[in-house]
Amino acid sequence: MDNIEPAVRQARKANPAANSELLTARSVEANVFQSISDILSRSGEVRELTKEGKVKVVGAVYDIATGSVRWLGAHPEQSSLVFGKPRSDDPHAGHGGAAAHTAVAGAKATKANGSSHSESGNAGQSTPAGGGHGAVGLPTPQQAFEMLRDGNQRFFSGAPQHPHCDKERLASTAKGQHPYATVLSCADSRVPVERLFDQGIGDVFVVRFAGNVADTDEIASIEYATGHLGTPLLVVLGHSSCGAVSAVVGNAELHGCLPALVDNIQPAVARARNANPGLGGDPLIAAAIRANVFQSMNDLLANSPGVRKLVEAGKLRIVGGMYDLASGKVEWLRDPLTADGADPKPAAAPSAKPADAPQSSAEPAESAKDAHGEHDGHGGR
Ligand SMILES: [Zn+2]
Repeated sequence: MDNIEPAVRQARKANPAANSELLTARSVEANVFQSISDILSRSGEVRELTKEGKVKVVGAVYDIATGSVRWLGAHPEQSSLVFGKPRSDDPHAGHGGAAAHTAVAGAKATKANGSSHSESGNAGQSTPAGGGHGAVGLPTPQQAFEMLRDGNQRFFSGAPQHPHCDKERLASTAKGQHPYATVLSCADSRVPVERLFDQGIGDVFVVRFAGNVADTDEIASIEYATGHLGTPLLVVLGHSSCGAVSAVVGNAELHGCLPALVDNIQPAVARARNANPGLGGDPLIAAAIRANVFQSMNDLLANSPGVRKLVEAGKLRIVGGMYDLASGKVEWLRDPLTADGADPKPAAAPSAKPADAPQSSAEPAESAKDAHGEHDGHGGR
């Protein structure tokens, strides 16, 4: 929320007489520009690409009721953000937040982003929110798992139904969201989560981030989905040929903010290496990608007491999956059907993660012990 508050303050200041609906809309817009400002202030890489005309950064607001995107254009202060005097502090050293806020303070309040928008949609709505697990007829963890599993089966067998994509669905979900599953996946363009699970609007709360890592912002998003919206299932989805994991395995030279990202992946690669002495190349990458799925689970459980509680109470189930880019098929790394019977039990307590081990994994690289070794103090930047 630290990232969003400046935008709300700014919208409030620029629209002192606005009612809450208008204030929310203005805050959403301000928050889009806030994000643009954060990106341009903190990333020398993106600034350079923008200078060279290779990247264009524009804002947009998606209307969850009509399905239309309203284009906001460039940040009102884009040229000073891009060409302005570089900050005296190192923009890569973590001071970008404060600097970005300064930059935005003078911006015209105009913009918003999707997630704020959908939250506002919920705000005026009676939702299962407020903690109601199962309050609005959400499925059980097992049912939710079966819905995703079956959807993926339709997708990879070439018979998708594209459910929940019409105008009626837009209209009904605009009043509030009740997703039945949360998915943490990679931002890779070849991993379109709703499509590969053959789901539609309002079905799945997707947190997408390079390398499907679970760091602070991702954990916060997951806490919102599982704690506030009450989704009974969380899938951590890795995928074949993941560039983020491959970069770590290959010790690629990384610039900008990327080192902070790969910090999250490093322990998984180390485990895969230790478990497979002598393994290299693609097989090592494959083992590391699997280890990284469990690394994210570990990081989430280690750093979120709220999520741990839900799991212990049997209200939330966490499952690992591996998406194959070529076949479109998800391999389930923990199969609730065979592992625990038809009526899923809560996963084991947080740190005793063996219950989350990839029981159907064919990859010897990823022994349960290996995937769930001690936390190495890693997690949270
Ligand atoms: Zn990836």
